[in-house]
Amino acid sequence: MPALPEYKTRILLENHDVPLVPAVFHDAMPEILPEPVVFLKAQIPGATSRAGRGLVRRASTPDEIANGLRELLAEENCQGVLSAQAVDIKKEYYAACLLDFGDGENLPGGVILFSPDGGTGIEGRTSSLIKIKFSLLNPPSTDDIEKQLEGIPNSTELAEFLKKMTRTFIGYKLTVLETNPIAVLADGSHIAVDCRAEFEKHAVSRKNAELFKVPESSTSDSTPLEKAVEAINADDPAGTGFFRASREKAPEGTIAVATNLCGGGGKMLWEMTTGGRDDIFSLNESDTSGGLSGFKSYRILRAIMSQPEAQVLILTGSGMAFQNQYHLASAVWKALKESATPLPSLLRFGGTDQVKAMELLEQVSQSLPVKIRTFRPEIFPNAMVEHLSEIATDHRVQQKFTPEAGELAFEVKTPPARFIYHPDKNPDNIEPICVKECPTGFLLWENGRIVANPEAKCIGCLVCETVSILEGNGELTIELDLPGEVL
Ligand code: SF4
Repeated sequence: MPALPEYKTRILLENHDVPLVPAVFHDAMPEILPEPVVFLKAQIPGATSRAGRGLVRRASTPDEIANGLRELLAEENCQGVLSAQAVDIKKEYYAACLLDFGDGENLPGGVILFSPDGGTGIEGRTSSLIKIKFSLLNPPSTDDIEKQLEGIPNSTELAEFLKKMTRTFIGYKLTVLETNPIAVLADGSHIAVDCRAEFEKHAVSRKNAELFKVPESSTSDSTPLEKAVEAINADDPAGTGFFRASREKAPEGTIAVATNLCGGGGKMLWEMTTGGRDDIFSLNESDTSGGLSGFKSYRILRAIMSQPEAQVLILTGSGMAFQNQYHLASAVWKALKESATPLPSLLRFGGTDQVKAMELLEQVSQSLPVKIRTFRPEIFPNAMVEHLSEIATDHRVQQKFTPEAGELAFEVKTPPARFIYHPDKNPDNIEPICVKECPTGFLLWENGRIVANPEAKCIGCLVCETVSILEGNGELTIELDLPGEVL
C-alpha cells in the first residue's frame, strides 16, 4: 500500500492536535538555515530503514546542516528534507493504529498497538506490546484507553495522545499510522518524534487528494522482477501485489532475506524487527494484501523467490489478515513445489483458517524440496528471525517442475488460470472431491467431466487443487502463467 512520507503524516497528526516535535520542511536549500541541533531526514515516499541508509543525520553545526541538506536534497526521489529539532528525551514509547480485518468471531475494526519500550530495538518492544481493539464507528475515549495503560506514568495524558492518534487514523481512513518514538520529555509530556502512515488509494476523499498524491514512480529504473510483478498485477488487478527490490547488495556477513509481507501490519512488524539489526538484509519490500486471490499470492511468491541473492524467505502479516490463510498456505505450497529456485521459508500465519494453514504445511513439509517452519500469530517476527541462520542456505535448491499432462477442462480469465483434468487419475469416473470442496460452487461434475458453473465465480483460492492432491488422487491441477523473468 502507498505510504506517506513523514512530513505529510505530520500534517495529518497536526490536524488532530497530536503533539509533534518542532520541525520545518525544506523542498529546496533554505536561505536561512535552521538552528542546531537538528535531525535532517530525507523525505522519500516508501523509503524504509532511513537511518541505516544514511537518510537521517544529526547536524550540530551550521556547516553540518548546510552539507546535510545539500546531500539529502540530492537523493533520488527526495521530495525535501525535514529538519526536526533535537529534544531531550527521557523515555521512548511506541504506538501504531492498524486495520483489524476481523475473523469468523470478531468484527472488523481498528487496533492500537502500544509499547512502553519504543525507539530502536525490537526485542523488548514486541514482547511488551499492548493491543487495544476498537470500533471504527465508536472509537475509544481517553478513559477507555487509559484503563489499558495500567502502571504507565502520566497515563491520562498518554491516553489522550493515543485517542488523538486514533481519530487521525479513522478521520483519514488510513490502514497504518505509526508514531515511533513517542518521546516522554522532562515535564512528563509526550510528543511524536517520528511518524508514518499508509493508506489505500481508493479510500482517499477528493478534498484530501492533493495531500495523498502519490508521485508517479519512474518505471525506467524498474528491475525485471518489478516489471514482472507489474505484469502480474495488470493480469489480476484485485488486491495489492507490491514488490520493490533493494537497489543495494546484501553486505558481506548478512543473511539475505526475501520477504513476502502481508499488509501494512506485516511490513511494520518486519521493519521493527530488522530496524536495529545489521545482520539481516531485506532484499525487497513487498505487500500482498487487500483480499488478493491465492492465484495472485502464488505468482507474487514465485517472483519473490526468483531473487538470485536470496537465502531464505520470510512471510508474515500483522497476525490478523483479511486473506484466508488456508488459501495463502495453498499458494505457498504450490510455489515451493513449482519454483525453479524454492527458498527455505519461515512462515507466519494469522487470520481466518490459520490453523488449517499450518496443518496443511506441516502435512506436506517432508515432501518439500526445502526446509520450512510455520509460526502462529502470537509469535512475532523478532522471535521468527532467531531461526534464520539455522534455515538460510548458501546453496539454493535448483529444480525443474514439469506439470503432468492432462486435459484442459476450462480456462478462467479473472483471476487467470487454466484448469487441467486428469482422467487417468479417476479410473472409476466418479465425482472428484475437489468439486464438493470448491467454496463457491464453481466446479460441477457433469457427464463424467469437471465443468465450470456459469452461475458461480472462481475466487482463485486453490482449494480445489490442494484437496485434489491431498485428499483425492490428483484429478485436477491448475496452471498459472508467469512472466518470463520469474524462475
Ligand atoms: S474452482 Fe473453486 S476451489 Fe478452485 S480455485 Fe476456483 S473457487 Fe477455488
